[in-house]
Amino acid sequence: MASLTKEHILNALTHVRDTQSANPKGEALDVVSAGLIQGLVIKDGHVGFSVEVDPRDGAAKEPLRKACEEAAYGVPGVLSVTAVLTAHSQQSAASTPPPQPAPQPARPGLSRKASADATPKAALSTEPLPGITHTIAVASGKGGVGKSTVAINLAIGLAKLGKRVGLLDADIYGPSVPRLMGLKGTPESDGKRLKPMEAWGLKTMSIGFMVDEDTPMIWRGPMVMSALTQMMRDVEWGELDVLVVDMPPGTGDAQLTLVQRVALAGAIIVSTPQDLALIDARKGLAMFTKTRVPILGMIENMSYFISPESGEKTFIFGEGGVRRTAEELGCDFLGEIPLLPKIRETSDSGEPITASAPDSAEAKIFLDLAAKVAIKLSAAKS
Ligand code: ADP
Repeated sequence: MASLTKEHILNALTHVRDTQSANPKGEALDVVSAGLIQGLVIKDGHVGFSVEVDPRDGAAKEPLRKACEEAAYGVPGVLSVTAVLTAHSQQSAASTPPPQPAPQPARPGLSRKASADATPKAALSTEPLPGITHTIAVASGKGGVGKSTVAINLAIGLAKLGKRVGLLDADIYGPSVPRLMGLKGTPESDGKRLKPMEAWGLKTMSIGFMVDEDTPMIWRGPMVMSALTQMMRDVEWGELDVLVVDMPPGTGDAQLTLVQRVALAGAIIVSTPQDLALIDARKGLAMFTKTRVPILGMIENMSYFISPESGEKTFIFGEGGVRRTAEELGCDFLGEIPLLPKIRETSDSGEPITASAPDSAEAKIFLDLAAKVAIKLSAAKS
């Protein structure tokens, strides 16, 4: 059978009509002609794309998203399809308005709400890291919400989608990546630059390679800056499609340094569903929008517990807290990760689930999240 191409998928999607897009005769356009399909990626039979809709339509467009997913799934050779709804940009709307000098999102992919909230500021001296296409931050308002676990499994998921991925543990106050990745030893250096350590398909750098995780670290302002800058710029990352930065929790100086020193393609906020964690997550989100970093979306971790005996779901911290907050703040909700013993066991033994058991139900959750992030990044590039 001929290998699966983008044309095969786009062809199938031309059979899906969007009743709200019409040609001059008033006939409904198909989703491809209407310019709603963006960021199409295909990897080993796994297909992902975004369906761009008016943010005001939101959930009302869910049937359209489903119809697109089903149409793509019907193409021979397709193993899985992930379609996500995203707020459309002016350029890709069916009836493209003439170019306007109107306020534009600061960077591609920034949701309208977030863009509106961004404080206008003088341009920051952010520069992209050489050789790295997208640098993304995984952040949380407070510690212990599973930010590192999510960052690692997301990074491995992106690598499984064929991306060249690096992982930078920027949590200088509690670097846990060496432990969670099962990495020991000190990185090699040529006297000028450090070589990242490699595991599970990721190039990894962490201050934890240089100091003990249990040694309390006291960082003074300038030290924070130079340590972080060094870990980003004085490392031989080589060519990377994505560098995932596991941020320090919170919104202090270290976090600000990071977001101001490097051009971030976007940020992902991880939170647990309870109110207190959400208050902190909102602060984190505000920091990114103020510094004009696009929010790729929010992820809810430890959403519910599944009883091993009955399979019953228990919402320990309340149900749907992060999804509601994301809706309220006008940013995308990327998904929820249940509290699962297997995630904790694999994380804590240094064998991340997405790498050590890639076919498990737990890994599938992270792979789906990674596909969504990949779609968003490829849409932001075009
Ligand atoms: P943070 O980076 O936010 O401090 P970690 O990723 O270090 O959090 O996770 C804290 C603890 O919670 C770790 O022991 C980790 O294995 C566990 N953990 C994280 N997410 C989950 C989950 N979804 N289910 C079970 N345990 C989890």
